[in-house]
Amino acid sequence: MSAQVFILAAHRAGQADESALELLAAAGALFPGCAPVALALGAPGEVAVVGAQLAASFPEVWIAGSPDLAYPNAELARPLLVQLLPPGARLLMAHDTFAMDLGPGLAVKLGAAYLPDLVGGAGAEGDTLLAVRHEYSGQVSAHVQADISLGVVVTVRSGAFKAAAGSPGAVLDKSAEAPGLRARRRFRELLQPEAGGVDITREEVLVSVGRGIGEQENLELVRELAEAMGAAVSCSRPIVDAKWLEKARQVGTSGQTVRPRVYLALGISGSFQHLGGLKGAPFLVAVNKNPKAPIFRAASVGVVADLLELVPALTARIKQGR
Ligand SMILES: Cc1cc2nc3c(=O)[nH]c(=O)nc-3n(C[C@H](O)[C@H](O)[C@H](O)COP(=O)(O)OP(=O)(O)OC[C@H]3O[C@@H](n4cnc5c(N)ncnc54)[C@H](O)[C@@H]3O)c2cc1C
Repeated sequence: MSAQVFILAAHRAGQADESALELLAAAGALFPGCAPVALALGAPGEVAVVGAQLAASFPEVWIAGSPDLAYPNAELARPLLVQLLPPGARLLMAHDTFAMDLGPGLAVKLGAAYLPDLVGGAGAEGDTLLAVRHEYSGQVSAHVQADISLGVVVTVRSGAFKAAAGSPGAVLDKSAEAPGLRARRRFRELLQPEAGGVDITREEVLVSVGRGIGEQENLELVRELAEAMGAAVSCSRPIVDAKWLEKARQVGTSGQTVRPRVYLALGISGSFQHLGGLKGAPFLVAVNKNPKAPIFRAASVGVVADLLELVPALTARIKQGR
């Protein structure tokens, strides 16, 4: 019998993250024919709710609830997973900061292979898994082969696999295996993004600006275009780091997750941390002066141009057309 496949489901405020369904798709691609078990760790009440949500798409769901697990803490999750997972288990997680913290140590404890940040892969053949990763900010693809005879811990990049529709199953409560968890690291405080004047998570059309804008005063060009389009302005992280726009407008893994219908990316290279905040497969138009910019791989339409020339021309054309 082949080793069992598990996905560790992320959740927040009683809501399973949609990355679980991307992991379901990844599990199907990497281990064809598998019936992955979804695992959810968290506070007892919350994890029961999340488990019920996951049971709509997974044939089997394991939940482990403990007050100590109310906030993700790799130091607590690691020994618990070592206890829960059967020998040779194949575990998939979304490639986020928690998984980056948890994954390497967990793989060592399990004696399993570790394959972080997968963007693709061929079905495993016996004990060999062939995976694809992007390196040098997505400029090259690396094809990596791993011996998974003792199991594997895989983290999967957000958006690399299209969410799959699963079939319903049952929830098994494994909370009894989570007593007396101890960690030297403790959760102190959850810092919510500051409430800004705009909620980019609810906008249908976003004009997003990146470091390619060059100077703070050039932001005015972007604001004018957004206004002409009836869109809101969002941005990549360097724009927030430079304090040119407020944190509430940052799209990405350490910013907001947005689901617009249309996303116009101006001078944004397309790092996975940025694209990780883009959900729901929007119509993505990328403007970049570098034809090799990774964002063009994700774009529905790509325009190789200097945004400082294109943006004012576009604004003028939209205003003319009214
Ligand atoms: C833990 C962690 C979390 C992170 N979280 C986030 C996050 O939430 N969101 C996020 O965005 N980033 C995040 N980052 C940063 C991320 O790795 C990238 O550094 C960042 O997304 C790059 O932003 P950018 O594309 O605006 O800048 P760059 O990568 O510098 O790209 C600028 C682009 O503009 C183009 N350009 C330059 N001039 C012009 C011009 N005149 N016209 C047209 N194009 C031009 C360039 O060709 C280039 O492609 C995170 C990083 C880490 C380590």
